[in-house]
Amino acid sequence: MNTRSFLSLLFLSLFNTNISAHFFPNISSIPPSFIPNTTAGDWASFNKLLGCHTGQKVDGVAKLKRYFQYFGYLNSSTNCTDDFDDVFESALRTYQLNFNLNATGELDGPTLKKLVSPRCGNADIINGTSSMNSGKGPSATPIHLSTVSHYTFFPGTPRWPASRTELSYGFSPDNQISDTVKNVFSGAFERWSEVTPLTFTETTSFYTADIKIGFFAGDHGDGEPFDGVLGTLAHAFSPPSGRLHLDDDENWVVDGNFIDAPSGTSAVDLESVAVHEIGHLLGLGHSSVEEAIMYPTISSGSRKTELANDDIVGIQVLYGANPNYNGTSTLTPAQRDTNGAHFLGPFWDLWFLISLGFVLFLL
Ligand SMILES: [Zn+2]
Ligand SMILES: [Zn+2]
Repeated sequence: MNTRSFLSLLFLSLFNTNISAHFFPNISSIPPSFIPNTTAGDWASFNKLLGCHTGQKVDGVAKLKRYFQYFGYLNSSTNCTDDFDDVFESALRTYQLNFNLNATGELDGPTLKKLVSPRCGNADIINGTSSMNSGKGPSATPIHLSTVSHYTFFPGTPRWPASRTELSYGFSPDNQISDTVKNVFSGAFERWSEVTPLTFTETTSFYTADIKIGFFAGDHGDGEPFDGVLGTLAHAFSPPSGRLHLDDDENWVVDGNFIDAPSGTSAVDLESVAVHEIGHLLGLGHSSVEEAIMYPTISSGSRKTELANDDIVGIQVLYGANPNYNGTSTLTPAQRDTNGAHFLGPFWDLWFLISLGFVLFLL
């Protein structure tokens, strides 16, 4: 062990005693032995499928079918063989639409690059229904991406009840989370409370907390096992479940210092993932807008913690705006009308009427 590795491990032991997850203050503090040889974990093997298309039978397609099954692009009864068949091609085109790729139906370079990116473990398509790009019809062409919102909700549009604006959160006592890591989550919750009437308060009483946060490795009892370094990073359940799970095997970076991150670094920014998963806890699904927090993938070694307009509009449809929020990203009537099947609850209607009244008052 060289001096740098030793110091890194020493720092690690001081930084977070008695926890199982790998937390690091920044990328350079991750011991080289923690960084895998591949740049994409277990999914790197998909790269050998470059150029594959319908009619072929190629070793590895079965594994990619299981990937598509996991994220909702193929139904659970699909027979996962190595045949690149029509059903698989259709699923691939749907995936390409959702991620703003050319819908070629072939495993081209840009598609493979996206497929191997670390991502959220929540499915993009639930019960066969996609409300990302592929479910929005022919108007959802890339040219509209900057002006049309693509936020989505879970089927049935679950949200926390209107009477529950003060939510508590707690950390699994098994993880013995440090104050430094808790501060990362505190900052992540704040992103959402800044734009909604919701508040989030930490409690030491994990089992009675509204939101229960825990780091788990592999199979952890909810039918959604984690997969080691990279691959799926975390997942969260729709309201009012409140369960937020993160992959214990990731190299989590807690201070967001990604300057000069070497290519292929397996480090994942904790706050970026936390902000995304909290969006799920509150009722948001995945968005096709790449700048949005609710976009499903994040590159290792990168950071994205600011809510995009798409995220803000989506969450305010569910909960309304924070009375102190003075941003310009609130939902306009035109956006409301063009966003298709989005739920518009009584609270939103009230908020809209108040806003309209205020505008009329100013006029
Ligand atoms: Zn997600
Ligand atoms: Zn889980």
